[in-house]
Amino acid sequence: MTTPAEFGAWPGGADVAVCLTFDVDGEAPWLGEDPAYRRRLSTLSQGAFGPGRGLSRILALLAEQDIPATFYVPGHTADHRPGAVPAILAGGHEVGHHGYLHRGTDGLDETGQRAELEQGLAALGRHGVRPAGYRSPGWELTPETLALLGELGFSYDASLMEDDRPYWTASGDAPLLELPGHWSLCDWPYFGYTPYSGGLLADAAAVERTWLEEYESALAEHRVITYTLHPEAIGRGYLTRMLGRLIAEMRERGRPWFATHAEIASHAVFAREPERRL
Ligand SMILES: [Zn+2]
Repeated sequence: MTTPAEFGAWPGGADVAVCLTFDVDGEAPWLGEDPAYRRRLSTLSQGAFGPGRGLSRILALLAEQDIPATFYVPGHTADHRPGAVPAILAGGHEVGHHGYLHRGTDGLDETGQRAELEQGLAALGRHGVRPAGYRSPGWELTPETLALLGELGFSYDASLMEDDRPYWTASGDAPLLELPGHWSLCDWPYFGYTPYSGGLLADAAAVERTWLEEYESALAEHRVITYTLHPEAIGRGYLTRMLGRLIAEMRERGRPWFATHAEIASHAVFAREPERRL
């Protein structure tokens, strides 16, 4: 059983809250999965497109549209693509935690998970960032992860899917806000492709329709909707154009409040404990 988070009215008379979130995975998933990928330069370069070319294209679109977003950055990306986090911060965006080497929590014991979390915190800390939120690599969590998030001072998680509205879950004895996503609102299942794992390379127009239909549902229910995107996928030219059309259509159909995950979390905490704002 979960407890839905209460919010009150959205700022500026908005009738829906839209979170554009970007996981800047870079080369970390490959290197974290198997050291053999160190020799597979084409695969690594496909990942490197994300924090390089893809990220700059996304940041330009967000600046043009005046939209703040949340970027979940693995520590490895922060360390090895040193321009990425400063560019994200310069755009006024939020940086969240996304592991260090993007290792799936389910393959790690408590000690290994703690190391990934602490290394990620240290890497983001070198850029002056203390993230409030966490999204697990590959969208898997274990009970140990949830307990560690509270212990390490995170305010929210964006990895679970029990509701399509933000809800309170438990981190040990403490409440932790969950900002759910879903694979259907993620670009990777549609556009992620590698020779090793295959992929769909779906029709962008069909995905655009799906994402707009879910936006309509969120609009009707005045709820939060989170899109989970990857600069190495959505940062390809034709897909960034699709994202631009999506934003325009959202504004045409409703009054969206484009917010970071930290802003949503702050609203939820304030509604629950008015004396405390994140
Ligand atoms: Zn990721």
